[in-house]
Amino acid sequence: MKLPYTEVKSAIGALTKAINKSKNLELSTAALDLQSIISQLISENDDLEHENKRLKDQLADAQKSQLDRSNLVKYKGIWIVNEQTRSEVKAAGNQINDDLLAKMYCPVCLGKDSRLVSLSGGYSQYGYAVECPVCKFYTVLKRT
Ligand SMILES: [Zn+2]
Repeated sequence: MKLPYTEVKSAIGALTKAINKSKNLELSTAALDLQSIISQLISENDDLEHENKRLKDQLADAQKSQLDRSNLVKYKGIWIVNEQTRSEVKAAGNQINDDLLAKMYCPVCLGKDSRLVSLSGGYSQYGYAVECPVCKFYTVLKRT
């Protein structure tokens, strides 16, 4: 359970007040040192919480991406999310819609940075081609 910082601060404040009342210089100095240490700990704890959240998000992304990867299949040098989608791409002729493109990934980005980057598609003079929006990998998928 997380201790509210305001509670910690008010407890320290009360302690400092009591120590100051006692007019004991040694105690006052020790209380100030303690205050400073606790401030640092609170700040460090904030940083760690932030880092922890970031790592948890990263892990969730990686696990999601891992799931996607286990079914990846190759088609003409690019990666496709699964066997069924590959059949759909094959059957699509020269009409590959955006839904299919979203499930087709750049082989360069996957190999280099382990990133699943969806391809863009369009017609070129050689036929239907796909391109990676990140690294500009380009290949003609279906020749006319
Ligand atoms: Zn790429």
